Amino acid sequence: MTFDAMTTSPVESMNSHMKKFYKVNGKNSISRSVQIMTEGADERVDNILKKSQRELQMSVIGSKLPDAHLFSRKCVFMLHYQFDIRKKHKCAMIADHSWLVWNFEVPSFERDKYGLEESFPRFLNVFQVNLVAIGNQSFLQCDCRLYTRCGIPCCHVFKVTDTLSREMIAIQHWKAFPVYYGSDNSNLSKSLMRKVIWQESNECSGTPISSSIKKNCYRMLSGKLSSEMIYPILCDDVTSLDYRKANYVVSTKNTVTMKQLNEHFSLVTQEVGETST
Ligand SMILES: [Zn+2]
Repeated sequence: MTFDAMTTSPVESMNSHMKKFYKVNGKNSISRSVQIMTEGADERVDNILKKSQRELQMSVIGSKLPDAHLFSRKCVFMLHYQFDIRKKHKCAMIADHSWLVWNFEVPSFERDKYGLEESFPRFLNVFQVNLVAIGNQSFLQCDCRLYTRCGIPCCHVFKVTDTLSREMIAIQHWKAFPVYYGSDNSNLSKSLMRKVIWQESNECSGTPISSSIKKNCYRMLSGKLSSEMIYPILCDDVTSLDYRKANYVVSTKNTVTMKQLNEHFSLVTQEVGETST
């Protein structure tokens, strides 16, 4: 659904395209016209598919992920995106096992002739990542629930761990899964089935992590004595203003737009300026 659909112009342009480009007209029967249209649609879908497969393949070939060969191509492609985008996020540790992660860099509109960017509401999100332990296993739970939906850690979890290891990826994304799952007399198949059952019993627990990854989550505390633990502890690139902005968005339950946030903070700065003079 687009805003364009409020007018008939897309329909008219499609009509014109079909008449001129596909030569669908009164001289052809309905079945011939439909055939011409579907052939055109097939060709377009095919081109899009080939383009995305090329992109996917390039990303997989150039992958520097340590265990990339173990996972399906689509999984590696998605992991790359989530892992790389973590660098655009800011992070603050707010309690012993909790972090806030956010990215307020909203992309600009291209060729914005009519200044739509100004009036288009773009909401900001701050996500909370919590470390929880169930038995001996630790999990990172993020508000965005990407892991529960897709079995792949989100950029917020990657921001906290700053690294990736194989146990963080759901077993369904492993190359061995479609080949061995359910095959008779195979030990690997039994292991895969046990893993699936384990995953299902921890379905909503979040991303499973190893003890070394867990250690890495607390890297910003290194060199600090326990008596110095005054939260929040901000990542190196996070200013106190960044953190105040994130906290403001959290206080409104992520219902603030970029414009409202900027207005709120310009008012606060003005008030501080007036009281100090
Ligand atoms: Zn997340």
